[in-house]
Amino acid sequence: MVNREKIEQGVRLLLEGIGEEPDREGLRDTPQRVARMYEEIFGGMEASAREHLSKTFSAENNEMVLEKDIFFYSTCEHHMLPFFGKVHIAYIPEGKVAGISKLARTVEVYARRLQIQEKMTAQIADAIMENLKPKGVIVMAEAEHMCMTMRGVKKPGSRTVTMVSRGAFEKDGQLKDRFLSLVRY
Ligand code: ZN
Repeated sequence: MVNREKIEQGVRLLLEGIGEEPDREGLRDTPQRVARMYEEIFGGMEASAREHLSKTFSAENNEMVLEKDIFFYSTCEHHMLPFFGKVHIAYIPEGKVAGISKLARTVEVYARRLQIQEKMTAQIADAIMENLKPKGVIVMAEAEHMCMTMRGVKKPGSRTVTMVSRGAFEKDGQLKDRFLSLVRY
Protein backbone atom coordinates (compact mmCIF):
# COMPACT_ATOMS: atom_id res chain seq x y z
CA MET A 1 0.00 0.00 0.00
CA VAL A 2 1.36 3.41 -0.97
CA ASN A 3 2.08 5.55 2.09
CA ARG A 4 1.27 9.08 0.97
CA GLU A 5 2.54 10.68 4.12
CA LYS A 6 6.01 9.19 3.72
CA ILE A 7 6.18 10.28 0.09
CA GLU A 8 5.18 13.82 1.06
CA GLN A 9 7.90 13.97 3.73
CA GLY A 10 10.42 12.58 1.25
CA VAL A 11 9.58 15.09 -1.48
CA ARG A 12 9.91 17.92 1.03
CA LEU A 13 13.38 16.68 1.92
CA LEU A 14 14.29 16.40 -1.76
CA LEU A 15 13.21 19.97 -2.33
CA GLU A 16 15.30 21.13 0.61
CA GLY A 17 18.17 19.02 -0.66
CA ILE A 18 18.33 20.75 -4.02
CA GLY A 19 18.24 24.14 -2.26
CA GLU A 20 14.58 24.96 -2.80
CA GLU A 21 12.17 26.49 -0.35
CA PRO A 22 9.38 23.94 0.02
CA ASP A 23 7.05 26.58 1.42
CA ARG A 24 7.16 29.00 -1.48
CA GLU A 25 3.90 29.34 -3.32
CA GLY A 26 4.66 27.23 -6.39
CA LEU A 27 5.93 24.32 -4.30
CA ARG A 28 3.52 24.34 -1.41
CA ASP A 29 1.29 21.60 -2.81
CA THR A 30 4.00 19.74 -4.68
CA PRO A 31 4.66 17.01 -2.10
CA GLN A 32 0.95 16.21 -2.03
CA ARG A 33 0.69 16.24 -5.81
CA VAL A 34 3.69 13.95 -6.20
CA ALA A 35 2.25 11.55 -3.62
CA ARG A 36 -1.03 11.33 -5.52
CA MET A 37 0.83 10.85 -8.79
CA TYR A 38 3.00 8.09 -7.33
CA GLU A 39 -0.10 6.29 -6.21
CA GLU A 40 -1.09 6.13 -9.86
CA ILE A 41 2.23 5.45 -11.58
CA PHE A 42 3.27 2.85 -9.03
CA GLY A 43 -0.21 1.34 -8.80
CA GLY A 44 1.09 -1.88 -10.37
CA MET A 45 2.59 -2.82 -6.99
CA GLU A 46 -0.86 -3.77 -5.80
CA ALA A 47 -2.19 -5.21 -9.03
CA SER A 48 -1.92 -8.80 -10.15
CA ALA A 49 -1.67 -10.11 -13.69
CA ARG A 50 -3.62 -13.20 -12.70
CA GLU A 51 -6.73 -11.13 -12.20
CA HIS A 52 -6.59 -10.03 -15.85
CA LEU A 53 -5.40 -13.26 -17.38
CA SER A 54 -7.75 -15.62 -15.58
CA LYS A 55 -10.64 -14.77 -17.90
CA THR A 56 -9.96 -16.93 -20.91
CA PHE A 57 -11.86 -18.17 -23.93
CA SER A 58 -11.45 -21.57 -25.47
CA ALA A 59 -9.88 -21.49 -28.91
CA GLU A 60 -9.84 -24.20 -31.54
CA ASN A 61 -7.31 -22.40 -33.67
CA ASN A 62 -3.91 -22.65 -32.08
CA GLU A 63 -2.17 -20.22 -34.43
CA MET A 64 0.02 -17.42 -33.14
CA VAL A 65 -1.80 -14.53 -31.46
CA LEU A 66 0.06 -11.23 -31.75
CA GLU A 67 -0.67 -8.00 -29.97
CA LYS A 68 1.74 -5.30 -31.01
CA ASP A 69 2.39 -1.62 -30.24
CA ILE A 70 1.08 -1.72 -26.68
CA PHE A 71 2.22 1.65 -25.38
CA PHE A 72 3.55 1.84 -21.85
CA TYR A 73 5.13 4.20 -19.35
CA SER A 74 7.35 2.90 -16.60
CA THR A 75 9.91 4.27 -14.16
CA CYS A 76 13.52 3.14 -13.96
CA GLU A 77 14.56 1.98 -10.55
CA HIS A 78 18.08 3.35 -10.85
CA HIS A 79 17.16 7.00 -11.39
CA MET A 80 13.41 7.13 -10.80
CA LEU A 81 13.00 8.66 -14.24
CA PRO A 82 10.51 7.49 -16.86
CA PHE A 83 11.20 5.02 -19.61
CA PHE A 84 8.51 4.51 -22.18
CA GLY A 85 7.78 2.86 -25.46
CA LYS A 86 6.03 -0.17 -26.86
CA VAL A 87 5.61 -3.80 -25.98
CA HIS A 88 4.84 -6.51 -28.52
CA ILE A 89 3.50 -9.85 -27.33
CA ALA A 90 2.85 -13.07 -29.20
CA TYR A 91 1.83 -16.47 -27.93
CA ILE A 92 0.81 -19.83 -29.32
CA PRO A 93 -2.39 -20.85 -27.55
CA GLU A 94 -2.91 -24.29 -26.10
CA GLY A 95 -6.68 -24.37 -26.35
CA LYS A 96 -7.31 -21.02 -24.65
CA VAL A 97 -6.81 -17.35 -25.36
CA ALA A 98 -7.05 -14.21 -23.24
CA GLY A 99 -9.31 -11.26 -23.98
CA ILE A 100 -7.39 -8.83 -26.17
CA SER A 101 -7.33 -5.94 -23.70
CA LYS A 102 -5.96 -8.27 -21.02
CA LEU A 103 -2.51 -8.35 -22.52
CA ALA A 104 -2.35 -4.57 -22.34
CA ARG A 105 -3.60 -4.75 -18.73
CA THR A 106 -0.83 -7.21 -17.94
CA VAL A 107 1.74 -4.78 -19.34
CA GLU A 108 0.33 -2.08 -17.04
CA VAL A 109 0.63 -4.28 -13.97
CA TYR A 110 4.40 -4.55 -14.46
CA ALA A 111 5.04 -1.13 -16.00
CA ARG A 112 3.53 0.70 -13.07
CA ARG A 113 6.34 -0.14 -10.71
CA LEU A 114 9.95 0.84 -10.25
CA GLN A 115 11.46 -1.27 -12.98
CA ILE A 116 14.29 -2.24 -15.20
CA GLN A 117 13.24 -2.99 -18.74
CA GLU A 118 14.76 -6.47 -18.86
CA LYS A 119 12.89 -7.52 -15.74
CA MET A 120 9.59 -6.05 -16.91
CA THR A 121 9.86 -7.95 -20.21
CA ALA A 122 10.49 -11.23 -18.38
CA GLN A 123 7.70 -10.65 -15.86
CA ILE A 124 5.16 -10.13 -18.65
CA ALA A 125 6.30 -13.31 -20.42
CA ASP A 126 6.23 -15.34 -17.20
CA ALA A 127 2.78 -14.08 -16.20
CA ILE A 128 1.38 -15.17 -19.56
CA MET A 129 3.11 -18.57 -19.35
CA GLU A 130 1.83 -19.14 -15.85
CA ASN A 131 -1.75 -18.04 -16.33
CA LEU A 132 -2.60 -18.86 -19.95
CA LYS A 133 -0.32 -21.91 -20.20
CA PRO A 134 0.32 -21.43 -23.92
CA LYS A 135 2.74 -23.51 -25.99
CA GLY A 136 5.04 -20.53 -25.99
CA VAL A 137 5.25 -16.79 -25.58
CA ILE A 138 7.56 -14.03 -26.76
CA VAL A 139 7.66 -10.48 -25.44
CA MET A 140 9.63 -7.62 -26.93
CA ALA A 141 9.93 -4.15 -25.45
CA GLU A 142 11.45 -1.09 -27.09
CA ALA A 143 11.81 1.98 -24.95
CA GLU A 144 13.45 5.34 -24.57
CA HIS A 145 15.00 5.91 -21.16
CA MET A 146 14.92 9.45 -19.84
CA CYS A 147 17.97 8.67 -17.71
CA MET A 148 19.86 8.25 -20.97
CA THR A 149 18.34 11.12 -22.88
CA MET A 150 17.95 14.02 -20.44
CA ARG A 151 21.11 13.32 -18.45
CA GLY A 152 24.32 11.28 -18.67
CA VAL A 153 25.16 10.23 -22.20
CA LYS A 154 22.26 12.30 -23.63
CA LYS A 155 21.31 10.29 -26.66
CA PRO A 156 17.80 11.39 -27.52
CA GLY A 157 15.77 8.95 -29.56
CA SER A 158 18.00 5.98 -28.78
CA ARG A 159 15.96 2.92 -27.86
CA THR A 160 16.69 -0.08 -25.75
CA VAL A 161 15.25 -3.32 -27.05
CA THR A 162 14.69 -6.35 -24.84
CA MET A 163 13.23 -9.70 -25.77
CA VAL A 164 12.22 -12.72 -23.72
CA SER A 165 10.95 -15.99 -25.16
CA ARG A 166 9.53 -19.00 -23.40
CA GLY A 167 8.39 -22.44 -24.55
CA ALA A 168 8.01 -22.94 -28.30
CA PHE A 169 9.58 -19.57 -29.09
CA GLU A 170 12.73 -20.53 -27.23
CA LYS A 171 13.38 -23.61 -29.34
CA ASP A 172 11.99 -22.62 -32.72
CA GLY A 173 14.06 -19.99 -34.53
CA GLN A 174 11.58 -19.83 -37.41
CA LEU A 175 8.77 -18.97 -35.04
CA LYS A 176 10.86 -16.17 -33.59
CA ASP A 177 11.63 -14.88 -37.09
CA ARG A 178 7.94 -14.89 -37.93
CA PHE A 179 7.21 -12.83 -34.84
CA LEU A 180 9.94 -10.34 -35.73
CA SER A 181 8.71 -9.93 -39.29
CA LEU A 182 5.13 -9.39 -38.07
CA VAL A 183 6.31 -6.79 -35.55
CA ARG A 184 8.26 -4.96 -38.26
CA TYR A 185 5.39 -5.20 -40.76
ZN1 ZN B 1 17.86 4.82 -15.25
